[in-house]
Amino acid sequence: MKQYRAFCFDLDGTVYRGKEAIPAAIKFIRTLREKQLDYFFVTNNSSKTPSQIKEALLRFGVEASEKQIYSSAFVTAKYVKEHFGQAKVFVIGQDGIRYALGQHNIHIVEENPDVVVMGIDRMITYQKLAKACLAVQNGATLIGTNEDIRVPTEAGFQPGNGSFVKLVAQVCNVEPIFLGKPSPAILEMIRQGHGYQKSEMVMIGDNYDTDILCGIRFGCDTVHVNTGAVSTEKVKEKELQPTYCVQDLSEFEL
Ligand SMILES: [Mg+2]
Repeated sequence: MKQYRAFCFDLDGTVYRGKEAIPAAIKFIRTLREKQLDYFFVTNNSSKTPSQIKEALLRFGVEASEKQIYSSAFVTAKYVKEHFGQAKVFVIGQDGIRYALGQHNIHIVEENPDVVVMGIDRMITYQKLAKACLAVQNGATLIGTNEDIRVPTEAGFQPGNGSFVKLVAQVCNVEPIFLGKPSPAILEMIRQGHGYQKSEMVMIGDNYDTDILCGIRFGCDTVHVNTGAVSTEKVKEKELQPTYCVQDLSEFEL
């Protein structure tokens, strides 16, 4: 493996699988820590706050500060602040996105919003979706934290946030803005925040359509691990290939 300064990891399917740690990844991250190399966690899950993600990582034996955690909630809130700083925002979503918008002093409203922000909401209802649809028809901008249509679980696929955002977009006949992977926005935030060159960064993940494409669009090297959602076999069929394809991270020496 080439020498990098910043290692960006996806979470589910890369560091852990559901409730189980992926030992090779945990060991790899420990080595990064020992060698004082920088690592970050880049997740499309907007439901958890950085402190909740930090706690979850600690249960798998991974130490990280909140500053090393970049979620689609955080990048969405930053985007809303930069582009719609004074706007009134209607939110569908859980703790993570509400916390991130709050941190950026975004004005959250229930009526007459200028922007509709949608993150995964496991208590979503017809009423919430109808409200979002009406707001967008009245001119509100539609922003999704991430466009994942499905989320893999032990039992099978469950609906991801993208399913609901696209539902609203279809009803209103608009194109939503998405900030999570595969948008390069999160990696760009890490780069800007720490002053890395793109060539010094690597994106590591199990999902071709989110993690690998995110790295490719951003312009850094990528590692596909065969420990999660998409098999190496499937990745090999793609036109744009990751820099490395490995079974797991034990294949790399640091
Ligand atoms: Mg994953």
